[in-house]
Amino acid sequence: MKADSNLVDVLVVGGGVAGVCAAIQAGKAGARTMLVEKSSRLGGTLTNGGIAKPGLFHAWGRQVIDGIGWSLVAKTLDEGGGRMPDFANLSLPHWAHQPDISGPLFAALCDEAVVAAGVDLRLHTMVAGMQRARGAWRVGLCGKEGLGEIRASIVVDCTGDANVAALAGAKLRTPAVCQPATLSFRLGGYDLADLDEAALNAAYREAVKSGVLQAEDACWHIENPTVAGLLRQRGSNANHIVADASARTSVGRTKLEVAGRASVRRLVRWLRTQPGLGNAQVECVCPEIGVRETATVVGLETITGEDYVSGRIWPEAVCHAFYPVDIHGLDTATWKQTFLAPGSVPTVPRGALVAMGRPGLLMAGRILSSDRAANSALRVQATCMATGQAAGALAALAVKRGLDPAVVPMRDLRALLRRHGAIVPTR
Ligand SMILES: Cc1cc2nc3c(=O)[nH]c(=O)nc-3n(C[C@H](O)[C@H](O)[C@H](O)COP(=O)(O)OP(=O)(O)OC[C@H]3O[C@@H](n4cnc5c(N)ncnc54)[C@H](O)[C@@H]3O)c2cc1C
Repeated sequence: MKADSNLVDVLVVGGGVAGVCAAIQAGKAGARTMLVEKSSRLGGTLTNGGIAKPGLFHAWGRQVIDGIGWSLVAKTLDEGGGRMPDFANLSLPHWAHQPDISGPLFAALCDEAVVAAGVDLRLHTMVAGMQRARGAWRVGLCGKEGLGEIRASIVVDCTGDANVAALAGAKLRTPAVCQPATLSFRLGGYDLADLDEAALNAAYREAVKSGVLQAEDACWHIENPTVAGLLRQRGSNANHIVADASARTSVGRTKLEVAGRASVRRLVRWLRTQPGLGNAQVECVCPEIGVRETATVVGLETITGEDYVSGRIWPEAVCHAFYPVDIHGLDTATWKQTFLAPGSVPTVPRGALVAMGRPGLLMAGRILSSDRAANSALRVQATCMATGQAAGALAALAVKRGLDPAVVPMRDLRALLRRHGAIVPTR
């Protein structure tokens, strides 16, 4: 009998770090898997947003996240010639434990790994609709060739914006205030040694006061606007662009992208009038603005800030997570950072990856079920990779056994994850 080419076991939507790991894991576990991604390359925020500093895989001197994501990161570093951070040095700040990797190389290695896992990869494709019928999802896809439909037993939403969950009618959490976004770019044409940082910071404050610039054009803190940090970072991850939950829609995201590019242009026009910066120029702007927060999906379990900070080991933990609670704001009143107590390593339960009231719908990455405080830590790339791999394994097992993902035996899930290199917490 001919296989139905419109039927897959697992459909992963969104090819960011979570979706890539979910699809590779599901494919490697033998599920017929399709990965749908709206842009031209895999990696999401890591590649198109230019945030190629994945963390945190290590906590308190030991590795707590391993598996598919870590092997892609290690391979990127190896092939790209980068240096592994000194994870044993606990006196370093947490961000110094995040390796600097090449985004484009990471994307190419993701292509290779996804294809090698037997996954049907569809770039330049978006999901247009979700309908539940006869125990499966009928998923409308919009590609360059027009509208099409695929049927999937399990759909894993890895869009970063809960787009699929919204189309499926799942309950979302959309914060009234979202963390600001950041548009990364690369600034060249100047020598740091020629710059008088104090004078530039003073001139920047004047430009903000007079309304030529907005305080957040070059820095994260509007109470003490400075430009020297952005110049040292050459434009990478240095501005704040005011965002809200509408950034999960095309209309809202368009406004945000336009605001981000206007901010960069405004800033560079001004920089070129300053001493030592007459030849400053934008060498490239990331194709997409980096969005920290839009929505999360309400799951069978929700990780709260208290769960996270207390290092809760959930009975059905599928992976660890490690990062400070880090809610970006524009000023000290809205910015919140809480560091974990020494030795504490929080975990993620299976239930945070299973959508409530929507059978056959899973989610991974930064939209997993969590409150704002917990999400501000869980959203980092290592955790997105680990939750992606866990969701991919859960989806594949559920299809294979004909079970709801919520009741797949944890013993089997843990065994499958460990077989593919993941570290699974136990009490
Ligand atoms: C400015 C900034 C700085 C950060 N700094 C760090 C850091 O230093 N280290 C760190 O580890 N983390 C950092 N983070 C957090 C981290 O980068 C992200 O939270 C994480 O990469 C999210 O991964 P994801 O796979 O869940 O989603 P995303 O990276 O958002 O990927 C989602 C993918 O889905 C695709 N997609 C979206 N909608 C659709 C649709 N409807 N149909 C089809 N495809 C769709 C997108 O194109 C994208 O490829 C930062 C985030 C930002 C914004």
